[in-house]
This record gives sequence, C-alpha cells and structure tokens, in this order.
Amino acid sequence: MTFRREENVWIPESDLEGMSVDTLAVRAGQIRTGQLEHSDPIFPTSSFVYGSAAQAAARFGGDEPGNIYSRFTNPTVQAFEARIAAMEGGERAVATASGMAAILSTCMALLKSGDHVVCSRGVFGTTNVLFQKYMAKFGVETTFVSLTDMEAWSSAVRAETRMLFIETPSNPLCEVADMDGLAHLAHENDALFVVDNCFCTPVLQRPLEHGADIIIHSATKYLDGQGRCVGGVVVGPSKLMEEVYGFLRSAGPTMSPFNAWVFLKGLETLPIRMRAHCDNALELALWLDKQPTVAEVFYAGLQTHPQHELAKKQQKGFGGVLSFRLKGGREEAWRFIDATRMISITANLGDVKTTITHPATTTHGRLSAEDKVAAGITENLVRISVGIEAVEDLKTDLERGFQALQNPNNGNV
Ligand SMILES: *Cc1c(COP(=O)(O)O)cnc(C)c1O
Repeated sequence: MTFRREENVWIPESDLEGMSVDTLAVRAGQIRTGQLEHSDPIFPTSSFVYGSAAQAAARFGGDEPGNIYSRFTNPTVQAFEARIAAMEGGERAVATASGMAAILSTCMALLKSGDHVVCSRGVFGTTNVLFQKYMAKFGVETTFVSLTDMEAWSSAVRAETRMLFIETPSNPLCEVADMDGLAHLAHENDALFVVDNCFCTPVLQRPLEHGADIIIHSATKYLDGQGRCVGGVVVGPSKLMEEVYGFLRSAGPTMSPFNAWVFLKGLETLPIRMRAHCDNALELALWLDKQPTVAEVFYAGLQTHPQHELAKKQQKGFGGVLSFRLKGGREEAWRFIDATRMISITANLGDVKTTITHPATTTHGRLSAEDKVAAGITENLVRISVGIEAVEDLKTDLERGFQALQNPNNGNV
C-alpha cells in the first residue's frame, strides 16, 4: 500500500483544546495512518518518495508541505514534538539527539559572537562545559551566578546579554528559582529567558506560564522514564523554533524515529509516574531528615526549605530528586552508598528505578575545588533520584547504609 499524507487521520487540535496535561500526554500529536492502528506508528525511514519529479521539486522548494528526509522531517519525531509542545503550552517543539544537543541548537540558532549569557551556577555539569569551553570559543561569554540571588543576576546583566539560562529546581541541591522575577529581568534587557525543565517536566511546572521564552528538556530523563534512550527537545514560539529547526536541518543533531517512538510511549505514563516519584521522594525526605547520621536534607517539599513557598507556587509537586549531607566526609558517603543492595549506583536520574550518586566524584567531579564549594558539592553529599518502587523497600535498602555507618566493620547487613 502506498502511504499518502492526505490519508493521514490527524486528530484535530480543537478536539483536545483546554484539556489537561494528563490527557495531552496520552493523546496530543498522534497521527494515524490508513491502517487505523491504535498505538503510535513508527516510521524508521531515512527518506520519503514522491509521486512525480514535479512533486519532489515542490517539496524541496518548500512550495508543498510534506516529508523529505528524516534529518528534518519524520512523522514519528513530529508526533513527539507536537505532544510535548501541547503539554508545555508552547507553539512548537524541535526534537534533538540529546538534551545537550537541545541546548547547543538553541545557542547556535539564537546567539552570535559577542553575545553574553548569564547562567545559574548549579546547572548540569556538561551544560557548564558547553558554555565555558565551547560557546566561549565562538565569542559567546558566560557569567555564572547563584540561582537564587536576584541581585547577582541583575548585576551580571550587560548590554550584550542575550540569554538568561537556568534549571529549577537545581541539581543536586534542589534550589528553586523565581521564574517570574528572572523573566522580567531578561525581558527588560531584551534577552531570552531559557529554562531547562528536565527535573519537573510539564506535569509539575510549565515555565512558559512564568515568562520563559524557551524550554529545554533532556528527554533521556523523566520523559522516557525507563532509562532506554538519549534525546532532547526545545519548546517555544514558532518564530524562535524556526531558527532552531533551521540549525537542526543544517547541522543534523536529529532525534531518531525509534527514540521518538519510545519517548511518545514514555509521555503516556509521565503524569502518573511523576506523581509516584513526588510521593516517594517527599516521604523519603521526611524520613531522612529524622536520621541521626544525616546532617541536612535538600528537598523543596520540606517546610524548612528556603524556597518551599515559591516551589509550592510554581510547581504542582516537588519532584523526584533529593540530596542529603551525611555526618562525615567522602568515606562515610561511599560506605553508605556501597551498603545499599537494591538501589542502583548510577549517575542517571528520572528513571522508575531509584538511583544513588556521589556528586563530588561523578556528576560534578570535573568542577574545580572552588567551584565545588560555590555550588555546595561537598564530599559528604549523596543524591538520590527516587524511583517508583515501594517506599518501604527503599527505606529498607537505605537503612543498610545507615547500619554501615554505625558498624563500619560489618556494615553490609
Ligand atoms: C541530563 C541532563 C541534560 C543533558 O541531557 P542529555 O540527554 O544527557 O544530553 C541537560 N540538563 C539536565 C538538567 C540534565 O539532567
């Protein structure tokens, strides 16, 4: 059977208008072919065929919409883009090969030599490297400031500042940014406000409603949710996304159709997963806070968290990542981590499986000693990305860590 685009049954946008993120996660953007399949179809093809030479010319010339080549037009990728754009409340999304490719594509499309970026200090380690090492090579300078220090943001802005870039909540210390305030500062200065929404996902936080211009995701994390694929996406107004799409078409950091299909499946369960992550994380944070060998717990769901009220205002839940300082140093942190038997020792996050990490020697290991101090990455800090296992079983496994701290010689109970 030949597949003609005209035979697609597209779910009309108006059918889903006004519906909640939970519904959009399951339904938005789905295409249906003439086979009337119920699940999302997958199109693993590099190129597409034309009915005639004239049609090929019209497609290439942009006179007729339609698929050309999967570096920049693939229906499965477009379905993923349409779904995440609907969930974030944005006009358009552009999917990329990874979260880093999403950030790179945004910068390449929207910044030029001589521009200046202000970025929060606690961003994902590789984001730091991208700005400090690579964007700097092309004449884009970046100043790093504390996520929560409004005065530092204001004084870092210069005439050349074209972008404010943040993650909120931050990793691993769960600091929360005032998005409305930063959006105002950005727009007063003719700069774009870019929010990496990886930790909250649109289920918990919709930054466009707080003045963000562009949203970045590492789809690798919660959007997939089951640790299968690497991918990313940029969401924003059509005018800006056209530029990002243009970069993607020319430079090629494209999402594969297979990965897009996995992410479509991931999005369907994202709302219920995020609620389970939040419930487990809050319960664990409260439990950790009571342990005698824990010095400090970082989780915005705790009433003692300095931005607890702000998080309640901006977010529908406090997320699945928390961290804590043990009494002691690296030795205690490693002994605690090594005593767990179920929880995975891995730096990945956003998975249904709970993971445990020592940030100072893994995710943030490339930071200089001073940068670690500035970012609060101490040797006794442990990060947990809380999964959706039974919370009692998570406590049982973490209890092994606490036992090991009390009995250093036969700690592995
Ligand atoms: C993982 C991550 C990234 C990078 O995403 P990749 O898919 O690994 O390239 C960017 N931002 C945040 C907050 C992340 O956690």
